[in-house]
Amino acid sequence: MADHKFKSIAGIINDSNKITILTGAGISTESGIPDFRSKKTGLWNRFDSSLLSREFLYKNPEKFYELAIQLLSILKNGQKIKPNKAHYILAEMENNGIISSLITQNIDNLHKLAGSKNIYEVHGNMKKAYCVFCKNEYSFLTLYKKVLRKQIPPLCPECGSILRTSVILFGDELNEQFYKAREEAMTSDLMMVIGSSLEVGPVNTLPMLAKKFIIINRDRTCFDSQAFLVINKNAADALSEIYKFIKER
Ligand code: NAD
Ligand code: ZN
Repeated sequence: MADHKFKSIAGIINDSNKITILTGAGISTESGIPDFRSKKTGLWNRFDSSLLSREFLYKNPEKFYELAIQLLSILKNGQKIKPNKAHYILAEMENNGIISSLITQNIDNLHKLAGSKNIYEVHGNMKKAYCVFCKNEYSFLTLYKKVLRKQIPPLCPECGSILRTSVILFGDELNEQFYKAREEAMTSDLMMVIGSSLEVGPVNTLPMLAKKFIIINRDRTCFDSQAFLVINKNAADALSEIYKFIKER
């Protein structure tokens, strides 16, 4: 990959007043978490995406949680998940005042662990759960322990209604974080999309709301032709190169 692309991104970053980042599952693959749509390693090669839907959770909670536990063990891969270089560079860029906010589709909590602060989790967070009736919030562990004890569906200790994961499932309405993220996008000079196939809506409408957007992704996306620049590289390598040029200026 020619250096000039990294250099021009560093230039665009320096010339932009407000920069927002949009990340997807691709930024976490280097932490050992598989994404959904990579050709060989993506989880959709092993699971049917319709099973992670709101409809399926309410129709067949036993099967839903069986699958969720299976997915969790794959995501964790038996180890503690840690942020990678790409997460750390983004946190440092925010601390240095280069980027304003970070919108993520990820539910893995790694941006927070790396030190990013102004985060919009538009698809929720796997560490949290809530009651569908009284809306009380619980840790995911509370829900998980009930599921492991075969209390399915897991019930709210307050009102006895159903507890569910805070992760946004297919068919769910989006949370208020999405609407705040939309505002961020609309007021940004530049959005940098990192590690997302941009196939999931309505999040994939956000880049077009910024004045311009660039894409850093291993594979092509269907929004490439509308992007100001596209880099097909690993997130950590690309961000290291770009950050090197920013610091040299
Ligand atoms: P996706 O699987 O549709 O696309 C990921 C993209 O990242 C692919 O196009 C792939 O080429 C690219 N990629 C993979 N590794 C990369 C790397 N190291 N550097 C740069 N690019 C890389 O993911 P998506 O667009 O985020 O949409 C999928 C949905 O799945 C999201 O809503 C997200 O909530 C959910 N998800 C989250 C996690 C997580 O939290 N880590 C994991 C899997 C899925
Ligand atoms: Zn309740």
